[in-house]
Amino acid sequence: MRVPLVNLKAQYKSIKHEIDEAIASCIENSRFIGGKPISDFEQNFAKLCNAKYCVGVGSGTAALHLALKAYDIGKGDEVIIPTHTFIATAEAVSSLGAKFVAVDIDEKTYNISIDEIKKAITSKTKAIIPVHLYGQPADMAAISELAKEKGLIVIEDACQAHCAEYKGKKLPYGETACYSFFPGKNLGAYGDAGAVVTNNEEIASKIIMLRDHGRKPGNKYESTIEGFNHRMDTIQAAILNAKLKHIEKWTEMRRKNAETYNQLLKGSGVIVPYEAPRGKHVYHLYVVRVKNRDALQRHLKENEIETGIHYPFAIHQQPAYKRLGYKLSAFPITEKITPEVLSLPMFAELTKEQIGFVVEKIKEFY
Ligand SMILES: *Cc1c(COP(=O)(O)O)cnc(C)c1O
Repeated sequence: MRVPLVNLKAQYKSIKHEIDEAIASCIENSRFIGGKPISDFEQNFAKLCNAKYCVGVGSGTAALHLALKAYDIGKGDEVIIPTHTFIATAEAVSSLGAKFVAVDIDEKTYNISIDEIKKAITSKTKAIIPVHLYGQPADMAAISELAKEKGLIVIEDACQAHCAEYKGKKLPYGETACYSFFPGKNLGAYGDAGAVVTNNEEIASKIIMLRDHGRKPGNKYESTIEGFNHRMDTIQAAILNAKLKHIEKWTEMRRKNAETYNQLLKGSGVIVPYEAPRGKHVYHLYVVRVKNRDALQRHLKENEIETGIHYPFAIHQQPAYKRLGYKLSAFPITEKITPEVLSLPMFAELTKEQIGFVVEKIKEFY
C-alpha cells in the first residue's frame, strides 16, 4: 500500500468542480492582478480568523517580511525566534537587516520556550515571533504578557496553523499573524500565496502599500513609500476562496487522523505529539520522535511509506547563517529532538487503513 506524506490530488478530486470553475472564471474575466477574488478571499479569511483585516500577499515568507517591515523593524533591532522552525522565520528578520536571536524550545510542545525568551531579551529587542509549530499554538498568553511588560511587538508565525485555536479562540491571539498558503499547507493554493491577518488598521494599510510598490490603492503612478511586488495572485485567491468552505471540515479530519495514530501507536515506544490543553492543534504535521530515525525512515520507504523530517537543521545549524557564529551545541532541547523527529503521512483524506499500515510497519521495525 503506497502512503504519501501528503496527497494534493485526493483533495483536488474531492472538489474538482469548484476548483475548475474558480480558475475558469478568472480566465474568462482575464483580470489576473487584483480584483474581486482577492478582496473576497481577504474578507472571508479575516472572518474565519475572527480578525478585522486580512491582506493577501505572495507567500508566507512575504507575509512575515512585510509584517516586520510595517512595524518598522530593521537595522539595529533584535527579534527573538525559535531555533526549531522553517528557515523563513529567520529570513524575514535577516532580510530587513535586523538580527534574529534564536532561542530553544519546550520539549513537550516544540513551541518557543518562555524562559528562554526571557533570557534573550536585551535593550535592542524589538519583537518576538512565536511559531505555531506543526499546527500547535505557542503559549500566547504568557508571551503576550511578557511582551506587554517589556514593550515588545509580537508577530505570530501561523504559517502551519490555519484554524488553530488558543483557549477556545481562533488565532491570531494578539494583533498580527502571518499565514502561508503553500500547496502543502492546511489551506493550500496551487502555487505560492500568503496573508497577514491583523486587527491593526494602520498595519493593514501599510502592508497594502508595501505589497504593491508602495502605492495607495487606485494610485497607479504614485508610490507613497518604498515597496515591493509581493501581491497575492488572483487565480490563487480564487482557488483559496473555493477551498475555504471546506477548511473546518478538513481540520477536523486531520485531528481525527492524529487521534487514530495516537491510539494505534500506544505501547510502541514512539513519542506521539503532545497536545497542550491550552489550544487546538491542527496537525499540519504529525511529528513523532523515534530512536534510530534514519533506519526507520528507510524501512518505511522500502514499504512505500513516505515520511519527512521537519527539520533536519535547526536555524543555528543552517549553513546560510554560519556567519552569525552560533555554537553548534547551544540549544540542548532542539539538538536533542532534531535527530529524532519524523513526520508521518498526514492529510485530511488519509484513510484508517493507511494509518493502520504505517503503524504496522513502524511496529515491525522495532
Ligand atoms: C511554510 C512556512 C513559512 C513560509 O511560507 P511560504 O509560503 O513557503 O513562503 C514560514 N514559516 C513557517 C513556520 C512555515 O511553515
